[in-house]
Amino acid sequence: MRGIAILGSTGSIGRQALQVISLHPDRFFVTALTAHKNAALLFEQVRAFRPRLAALTGEEAPVPPDLSFCQFLFGPDALEKTARIAEGRDVLAAVVGVAGLKAVMAARQTGKRVLLANKETLVAGGEMVTAACRPDENGPTLLPVDSEHSAIFQCLQGAGPNAYEKILLTASGGPFRTWEKSRMENATVAEALGHPTWSMGAKITVDSASMFNKALEIIEAKWLFDARPEQIQVVVHPQSIVHSAVQFRDGAVIAQMGVPDMRLPILYAMSYPERLETGAPELDLFALNRLTFERPDTEKFPAINMAYQALRAGGAACCVLNAANEEACFSFLRGEIPFGRIPQAVDAALQKHGHLPARTLDEIDRADALAREEARRALRAPDEGGGKRIG
Ligand code: NAD
Ligand code: MG
Repeated sequence: MRGIAILGSTGSIGRQALQVISLHPDRFFVTALTAHKNAALLFEQVRAFRPRLAALTGEEAPVPPDLSFCQFLFGPDALEKTARIAEGRDVLAAVVGVAGLKAVMAARQTGKRVLLANKETLVAGGEMVTAACRPDENGPTLLPVDSEHSAIFQCLQGAGPNAYEKILLTASGGPFRTWEKSRMENATVAEALGHPTWSMGAKITVDSASMFNKALEIIEAKWLFDARPEQIQVVVHPQSIVHSAVQFRDGAVIAQMGVPDMRLPILYAMSYPERLETGAPELDLFALNRLTFERPDTEKFPAINMAYQALRAGGAACCVLNAANEEACFSFLRGEIPFGRIPQAVDAALQKHGHLPARTLDEIDRADALAREEARRALRAPDEGGGKRIG
């Protein structure tokens, strides 16, 4: 039996993780659950999965009397504390944003394995997180949950060190793949939330529309697989069947395919190296019409080149990119800015603070805060093109 703490259990990844755990009650049990504000769902989950620990990080709520078997923590520090004191070996980091960083570090400091969906944490703290997540005597201590990185990880099983030449990181292209740039820049929130192939939380869905999700994933791939920027090639594949591929030195390309369903990468991280049933539908090759692959349009989606620039710049550049994107993404979701302003805000923050250091938590916190401030300033500034102001 493997004990697992789920940080962000009320979100899209968290809920799917609980679904796969329900399929395998003989393999996994839940040690802790956390939510930010959705107390009602958290209480329901605690009732069903009976962890000994739970946390509500965004507000306080009275605990129903029938849940007295569970210790509840409240407040902003409760996430990190949960990661630290939870029993069991695994922590699934499924909160959204850099808010998960301290908890991931706390999980490692107490010897736990991190199953990482929360990519912003690795993007912001790449050097520090990677150093804390070296493999131990039991194998990897950081397992990818992001579907592309899980795919790459699966393709690399059995390959020796330095065996691969290139990572082929697939991208659906999002809802605006075929739109004119000018139309995309004034897209509504509802349009940005209409992802063609994946159903996910709001932030990552908007990130997929701007392709900042792929930018974050380029950086995530660098840290997970020790890849140089030129070894990571983004391939737009609108059907989301090939979840990524790896090209080896001898020219062989190994891809991982499947229906777009996060239960597979979530469960693979939990059960690795074993494979268990996920409850996802089978991939029917005969029902697929065709699989297509194209180059990303980096003029329409400047996020892609910003990721490579940030990687080459090193230091806090990736942290700054992430923080400014978080600010701009949530500002767009609140209806405050047009979609086209997101990359402008990130670019402004990168120009101003991309050179800062980011080796320690304090340095990362500082770069993150300055980047957010600069992004907010850029978002308030008079329109320099890139979409009309809405709302
Ligand atoms: P979501 O918005 O559906 O859920 C987020 C969870 O985190 C919720 O439980 C919420 O209560 C909690 N949370 C939000 N803000 C918080 C804060 N400041 N402090 C503590 N907890 C907070 O998000 P999601 O789609 O499940 O994504 C979670 C993470 O997984 C993200 O980093 C995302 O990029 C990544 N991811 C998601 C998918 C997917 O299919 N949804 C796929 C790949 C990677
Ligand atoms: Mg992904």
